[in-house]
Amino acid sequence: MSTCSACGAIFECGMTEGRAESPCWCTRLPTLPPEAYVRDASGSGVGCFCPDCLQALINRTRDRSAAGE
Ligand SMILES: [Zn+2]
Repeated sequence: MSTCSACGAIFECGMTEGRAESPCWCTRLPTLPPEAYVRDASGSGVGCFCPDCLQALINRTRDRSAAGE
């Protein structure tokens, strides 16, 4: 089990569980730039996000790209 870095929700990630026979749901979502995963300056806060937060993060990243930043 994994804990969402953003909201603390418990969820299952196929990548961290190491189950090669069941690809993680996150592989179906668009990949984010590496900097999108970095949340705190300590460098230790990088982790997985639950489906809801990952989708929200993708939406925000897209919005920023569309705005030309
Ligand atoms: Zn979450």
